[in-house]
Amino acid sequence: MVVGDVSTGTELLVVGGGPGGYTAAIRGAQLGLDTTLVEMDAYGGTCLNVGCIPSKAYITAADMKHRVEDAEEMGIHARADVDMIGLKTWKDGVVDQLTGGVEKLCKANGVNLIEGRAEFAGENKVRVAHRGEGQGSESVEFEHAVVATGSRPIEIPDFEFDGERILSSTGALDLESVPESLLVVGAGYIGMELSTVYAKLGTDVTVVEMLDQVLPGYEADVARIVRKRAEELGVEFHFGQRAASWSVAGDDTRVVTEDEDGEEYRHDAEKVLVAVGREPVTDTLNLDAVGLEPNEGGFLETDDYARTDLEHVFAVGDVAGEPMLAHKAIKEGEVAAEVAAGEPSALDYQAVPAAVFTDPEVGTVGMTEAEAEAAGFDPVVGRMPMGASGRALTLGETHGFVRVVADDESGFVLGAQIVGPEASELIAEFGLAIEMGATLEDVAATIHTHPTLGEAVMEAAMNARGEAIHTLNR
Ligand code: FAD
Ligand code: NAD
Repeated sequence: MVVGDVSTGTELLVVGGGPGGYTAAIRGAQLGLDTTLVEMDAYGGTCLNVGCIPSKAYITAADMKHRVEDAEEMGIHARADVDMIGLKTWKDGVVDQLTGGVEKLCKANGVNLIEGRAEFAGENKVRVAHRGEGQGSESVEFEHAVVATGSRPIEIPDFEFDGERILSSTGALDLESVPESLLVVGAGYIGMELSTVYAKLGTDVTVVEMLDQVLPGYEADVARIVRKRAEELGVEFHFGQRAASWSVAGDDTRVVTEDEDGEEYRHDAEKVLVAVGREPVTDTLNLDAVGLEPNEGGFLETDDYARTDLEHVFAVGDVAGEPMLAHKAIKEGEVAAEVAAGEPSALDYQAVPAAVFTDPEVGTVGMTEAEAEAAGFDPVVGRMPMGASGRALTLGETHGFVRVVADDESGFVLGAQIVGPEASELIAEFGLAIEMGATLEDVAATIHTHPTLGEAVMEAAMNARGEAIHTLNR
């Protein structure tokens, strides 16, 4: 059926149905705004369809195989065979359950859903080309708009993603067999998470990174533990090299890398994963029509209310800048809808956590010691090695530490860095501490269940106060 051009109106228009967009839409509808969400592809966006959720599903499955095969010390002798089609089917089921849930939640909250690609057609108007050939289009007039169009993987010149030889994270999370060998370009979030997955599944993994450490945004001692463990899993690293070109070498792909002196190196692998960052999707929105211009990086700059330069247009999530994390998108979506509805709401970025789901995991929140010093604090630091945690030992996962950074004079918790099992979960304790203005004494005095990893959080706070029981005090 061809649908003709129709015109509708809405109070809150949200473009993009990822974590930032669907949150804005649901919150807007909850607050009584007549809300319309336009999604051109799949509800849940990058995160639910090809990002956070599929990658974590693969991380869990690969780890399960690895742990079962690596448990001889515990008296377990086993071998696990991976059926990639089975794994992919399970992953797709998890994704479908969540994306279906997002659609249902939007509908149940009264959000009008339009499936199609939106672009601005005026200061208060978008034009939506309905999804599917010949499905027509419609215009939607809006009072407020939220741009939540997310990001896409950056393509290195000449390394076009073909889903066969040169993969983006999307391709690497949809393979139907375990590759013999994988060359990963970029040792950031995706490069490190997915090289861990494939190393555990039995692939021969090589990583090339143009800088001199893995996870370049993180402190060196954090990155060192992640790198060392990846090497134990068989991952080979080449630092100071950037991918320059590729060619076919029999069944393999040959990637030529260059160091800063122009020296060339060759790496052959069955598949190549390029994970060199993501770029915002703003170039397809006809932003001129509404009167907006992205910055040099293509991002839409926003204020503490998630507003762009225009009073009635908000931008949330990846499109609004770093860090490109789903929970940051969700918070911005919430705030944008609340501000549009006239609620007293604003953004506060002092306790945005981040987690890398490597082995061991990394979790951080707030300031590092160096950042605290630079901000004018006199920081005190407390530490608890995972090797001294009874629970970590019984899990057989003793790499890493919990570190807390606080203001020496007041004891206020300023930040934390955790490397170790469940670091992505544990970091929430420190996030809450910062958010509530808790001191080291508050964290140290909180009785934690024994034996749990959470005790390491308490012990790190005790250590900072010179009162640790299970480690030597600083
Ligand atoms: P997106 O999720 O990208 O959603 C944007 C939506 O807008 C898309 O559905 C798109 O189809 C739609 N759209 C775009 N243009 C239009 C248009 N013109 N009209 C209509 N619709 C449009 N973050 C974490 O916090 N934790 C993780 O563990 C994590 N893991 C990740 C793993 C991978 C492999 C990747 C790639 C990313 C990961 N991320 C993770 C990042 C996370 O996915 C993003 O930060 C998050 O999805 C951003 O949400 P968003 O709403 O801004 O955009
Ligand atoms: P990234 O920015 O984390 O890492 C990219 C890496 O590639 C950097 O280390 C960079 O130095 C390197 N690099 C850049 N160009 C290169 C080249 N030509 N040759 C060799 N190395 C090169 O980006 P990503 O890993 O693609 O992930 C994109 C974003 O997705 C992340 O920044 C993050 O915001 C999000 N993400 C988050 C999670 C999580 O929260 N656990 C997981 C995956 C992705």
